[in-house]
Amino acid sequence: MYWKKLSHEQVKARVFDALEKNLDYRGDRPILGIPGTYLDTSEFYPDAPFLQDAPYMSAMVRNPNHIGVHTLSEESVLEVFEGTQKIERELIKLTAEEIFNGDPDSVDGYVATGGTEANIQAMWVYRNYFQKEYDARLGEIALVYSKDAHYSMPKGANILGLTNIMLEVDMDTREILLSSLEEKFKQATEEGIKYFIVIANLSTTMFGSVDDIDMLGDFFTNMNVPFKIHVDAAYGGFIYPFTNPTSRFTFQNPYMNSITADGHKMLQTPYGTGLFLIRKGFFDYVKTDEAKYIPGKDYTVSGSRSGANAISMWMILQIHGSEGWKYKMETLCDRTERICKKLENMGVQYFRNPYLNIIAIKSKYMSEELAHKYYLVANSYDGKAEWYKIVVMPHVKQGTIDAFLMELAGELKTKKLV
Ligand SMILES: *Cc1c(COP(=O)(O)O)cnc(C)c1O
Repeated sequence: MYWKKLSHEQVKARVFDALEKNLDYRGDRPILGIPGTYLDTSEFYPDAPFLQDAPYMSAMVRNPNHIGVHTLSEESVLEVFEGTQKIERELIKLTAEEIFNGDPDSVDGYVATGGTEANIQAMWVYRNYFQKEYDARLGEIALVYSKDAHYSMPKGANILGLTNIMLEVDMDTREILLSSLEEKFKQATEEGIKYFIVIANLSTTMFGSVDDIDMLGDFFTNMNVPFKIHVDAAYGGFIYPFTNPTSRFTFQNPYMNSITADGHKMLQTPYGTGLFLIRKGFFDYVKTDEAKYIPGKDYTVSGSRSGANAISMWMILQIHGSEGWKYKMETLCDRTERICKKLENMGVQYFRNPYLNIIAIKSKYMSEELAHKYYLVANSYDGKAEWYKIVVMPHVKQGTIDAFLMELAGELKTKKLV
């Protein structure tokens, strides 16, 4: 993994150059047929002086539309926005090849609105793939995921008419139980399920637990049934590959067919940046031929989307370079490690994956008031919480951590919980 850091001036020059290559609604070209324009000028006036120094804001005001998927061919989907669509193509190439180790030009992708959309996009592709290639009927296709997976899984299954198979996990390690997989697989096949869309979490939101993609892949291979694995790295996609040099979540692993990696979680980009990557050859299963007014056709759940989103992701990756981002993510992990050591000394039970910045603490060690005071998130709001989690994000100050740990120690002492 390597890409060089760019300076602010270089990033700025590149974005403004791309914006220049887009057709400007304010320019001389006779743009008569496009149902889009710049942002309303009563509020978003283009001559605000700060814009000259603000490439992302300038992109917002110019309002390029990145509808469609730009990696499918070198041609632009809407040639009017050719300049910035090229930046999106570069962003996909960089993440697919440098972060997720794909072979050159072997991966397609786009910037979806978020992890929810990217996950649903994957399910949609594979559902249609099984229908087209195997003549599968709707009732024969299941979505397999762990109990700790994000709720976009049942949401997507509901929209797409897939059967849910939710796997049990070990209560302490949060690992998928092979016994549950075997049992639910057997039951599903008896009920007529023949095709499996499998989700592997590159970190669940609640625990930061990482599913064993090879265990899942080996299982379905041994069962000799058609399956495809999508990796939900909405949370972990921009941290885990940088902190774990032996990650199995790369395109060199044949089990990984597609992946979701949100910009708006660890990469600190604006909301609306959920990257979706998939091996070449699969987007065709969701081609909407009826998209007659889009020269390149449409293949995405979202339709029109802001080009500024892709630019924001590209800018952050460029300004840090691979080494800079790695340093930043490793630092978060170091700080997380430090909290874990303190918890161990206090005798507090917790779960943590060593390559991630999430700590889930067993709820019996603290009062609801303490959890509430520090905005810790509970694993469930339906009944009594079993876990509270800390997420060591870049805004978390050491002083806040110290204060929390002191209060926790105080509670433990008075309540004699340990
Ligand atoms: C946040 C998250 C999602 C959903 O992403 P949105 O961007 O909120 O749509 C899906 N999966 C995981 C693991 C997440 O952390």
